Amino acid sequence: MSQNSTAPAFDAADPVALTQALIRCPSVTPAEGGALALLGAVLTAEGFTVDRPVFSAPGMPDVENLYARIGADGPVLVIAGHTDVVPPGDLAAWTRDPFAATIVDGVLYGRGACDMKGGLAAMVAAAIRYRRENPQSHGSVAFLITGDEEGPAVNGTVKLLEWAKARGERFDHCLLGEPTNPANMSDMIKIGRRGSLTGKLTVAGVQGHVGYPHLAQNPIRGMVRLLAGLDASPLDAGTEHFDPSNLEVTTLDVGNPASNVIPAQAKAVFNIRFNDLWTPETLAAEIERRLREAAGNTVRYEITFEPTNAVAFLTKPGPFVAMVADAVEAETGKRPALSTTGGTSDARFIKNYCPVVEYGVVGQTMHQIDERVALVDLATLERITHRLLSAYFAAAPTA
Ligand SMILES: [Zn+2]
Repeated sequence: MSQNSTAPAFDAADPVALTQALIRCPSVTPAEGGALALLGAVLTAEGFTVDRPVFSAPGMPDVENLYARIGADGPVLVIAGHTDVVPPGDLAAWTRDPFAATIVDGVLYGRGACDMKGGLAAMVAAAIRYRRENPQSHGSVAFLITGDEEGPAVNGTVKLLEWAKARGERFDHCLLGEPTNPANMSDMIKIGRRGSLTGKLTVAGVQGHVGYPHLAQNPIRGMVRLLAGLDASPLDAGTEHFDPSNLEVTTLDVGNPASNVIPAQAKAVFNIRFNDLWTPETLAAEIERRLREAAGNTVRYEITFEPTNAVAFLTKPGPFVAMVADAVEAETGKRPALSTTGGTSDARFIKNYCPVVEYGVVGQTMHQIDERVALVDLATLERITHRLLSAYFAAAPTA
């Protein structure tokens, strides 16, 4: 432990008090801010074995992480998350101090309230309550917590998973506490994520005088043709659990300040969120095919793709997914949808080790000014997690 390991003054089984304590740790990526030290102290006091590996990479800040486990035998249910948060942005725009964790009318304000200190605190509180009530419970509860999810994600979950594997840790199932619900706690469990691929397209022309176009070649004309070719038909029609893949042109740049000059080149960047019909490689090949077809013999262009570790994946609905959905339904009265929408998450790394399901609080204000979470939602998530742990260790699912 790098910082004090004495248990805090509040009851760690109280999800609201624990969320407040975490928000008061200013852990903007890559700063640890005291958040992992706090969790380490809390979990140590409850009998967990806690490790705090620090990972490094050239040219990047060191990142602190946390691994905790209670129990010696299987099955192992690992709860994953992150304590780092995005910067608060314009402080003057916040109606409450982003690191004060103020409660107003049943709502807790602060950076990380929903993404994802609130969700993490509710799950830690639930695990603590479960283990206090069931000290002889068979199986193990583990926590895999990174301080590098909102940043480059290089010295975080990927290395923490490798580190745990090298120590002989094996996980049967994972619950990742990202905020998955659009509006209500009964809305949505995520059972997969789309992949992400970014392409950079450059079209070459010949610079010249607008009045003498036969001496020049306008790259914008070629760029328009290529982009129209990329957009001409849908990439696919979607699959059972995924929306259709989607390509968005995110920027188109010529940067030409003169209205009487034909520019020398045009650049565009696009990003594709793709479903489980594609890999980054097959998708890149399809994009290259469409560009070749649109370019014919007339457009000179270059296409490059940024390296990506965001592949599409699906945790097939089975006993574990059903167990999570059952717990949500039991506490909210409504069966949640099984979704693969939204951006990428650390689940894309965890899925290489064990089946992973994502469920957390309402994410409406994540990364926003006045990020906040309803106290009642924290209590609901604590109860859902407690219910899941009780069901899981009574009869662990086989898939
Ligand atoms: Zn998050």
